[in-house]
Amino acid sequence: MADIFDKIIAGEIPAYKVYEDDDLLAFLDISQVTPGHTLLVPKKHVDDIFAYDDETAQKVLLKLPSLARAIRASDPTITGINISSNNGPSAGQTVIHSHWHLIPRRDDDGLNA
Ligand code: ADP
Repeated sequence: MADIFDKIIAGEIPAYKVYEDDDLLAFLDISQVTPGHTLLVPKKHVDDIFAYDDETAQKVLLKLPSLARAIRASDPTITGINISSNNGPSAGQTVIHSHWHLIPRRDDDGLNA
């Protein structure tokens, strides 16, 4: 059964896309932890970190640094970024399609308190 990210990838439901190529899609999280909170997903359905083939893992992980740089360059107030992925319901994964959170951080954004 298609998950919500499969439907975004297929264009069946809308998302604000920030990066796309043949294998990857990045789009704004619908519930922004901080402004610019982005999700990077492989277009090929992969449940979680435990299910990656090496080729898909290479594509996704290789994209993270340049995507982080692009996000930082989009807003001069961004001075850092948190990158994380929840894997498995016990770890807080609610959408079972692997995704990487890129959460921009700003000085004194209050999240460290
Ligand atoms: P959690 O929901 O605990 O953050 P996940 O790591 O599985 O668990 O994250 C799923 C993410 O997907 C959430 O940050 C949620 O806001 C986001 N999300 C859910 N539906 C959509 C959607 N239609 N468009 C963009 N982001 C979405």
